Amino acid sequence: MASLRASGVTVVFGGKRALDEAGFAAESGGITGLIGPNGAGKSTLFDVVSGLRRPQAGAVILDGHDITRATPARRARRGMARTFQRLELFGRLSVRDNLRVAAELGARGRESGRTADRILERIGLASHADTAADSLPTGAARLLEVGRALAGRPRVLLLDEPAAGQDADETRRFAALLRDVAADGCAVVLVEHDMGLVMSVCDQVYVLDLGKVVASGPPEEIQQDQTVLTAYLGEV
Ligand code: ADP
Ligand code: MG
Repeated sequence: MASLRASGVTVVFGGKRALDEAGFAAESGGITGLIGPNGAGKSTLFDVVSGLRRPQAGAVILDGHDITRATPARRARRGMARTFQRLELFGRLSVRDNLRVAAELGARGRESGRTADRILERIGLASHADTAADSLPTGAARLLEVGRALAGRPRVLLLDEPAAGQDADETRRFAALLRDVAADGCAVVLVEHDMGLVMSVCDQVYVLDLGKVVASGPPEEIQQDQTVLTAYLGEV
């Protein structure tokens, strides 16, 4: 089981508040959505949670441990994995080898081949196993990035716009994959612009604007929140 909580997170860039006492909570078995217009602070919040940026104020608590000052490596050892809005694949390696490298980093040793094959099936890219990662279409490349994160068997998975560039069919399969990963006990946190996907898979949704959480609740409530509807859902 995993429980992640970020609270009161404030990040200032040259006098401008990218995050202003923002936070969210995510639990094992759940999918938590973070939405909001471009520049709202979603990726910066992921940077703070994954340890790539130290906040001026606030705390990140994983399973009751304060990890606000822990290194990204330490957070990874505690079971946290993330993907990036800008893809970070090994372009010249095949799809399968990208997964194997990730599985080896996850200390699975000789099992890395089997882990890679299992994930290839799970993310639906078995037919692309030998394709070089940099010749994948964007939607498939994003799936591979999620697959690499899964290779380390994370307990907390942070996904930054994973469905960007996916077609409708890929997004449908991706939604099923996310539900499956959550059902396995992972706490999934999803930053995504595809509202159909967010509202169909998330248990809780947080709406960020100008660095603040302006609404949070189950998708049914968020979809009916007039402030959210008029100010944000129309433009994201
Ligand atoms: P989102 O992911 O919601 O689109 P970001 O977290 O990327 O938003 O950005 C939030 C705000 O912080 C934006 O105004 C952005 O320009 C600013 N910002 C992000 N990263 C930096 C940085 N490294 N230096 C200065 N400003 C930044
Ligand atoms: Mg972003």
